[in-house]
Amino acid sequence: MAVEIIVDKEKCIGCGRCYDVCPKAPLIWKKDKDGKYYAYNFEYCHNCKFCAGRCPTKAILVKVVKPKNKNKGKG
Ligand code: SF4
Ligand code: SF4
Repeated sequence: MAVEIIVDKEKCIGCGRCYDVCPKAPLIWKKDKDGKYYAYNFEYCHNCKFCAGRCPTKAILVKVVKPKNKNKGKG
């Protein structure tokens, strides 16, 4: 399943809960220079939505996306 994680930077307060609850956090989440979190790699995300559920400002959107090319082999 291809998943995309979109964080609204305006809403993110940098609390780090998304990171704390994500089972694959180090492979998915990073903190930017402003102390806000973003998903840099969606490959390991399995759409559990823990991050979105725990975000106090509802800054996270977990979106299922259709793969562009079925024959690419990955996923
Ligand atoms: S849980 Fe939400 S507000 Fe907290 S760091 Fe993650 S995206 Fe930002
Ligand atoms: S949906 Fe689950 S696996 Fe994906 S980033 Fe959020 S907590 Fe991590």
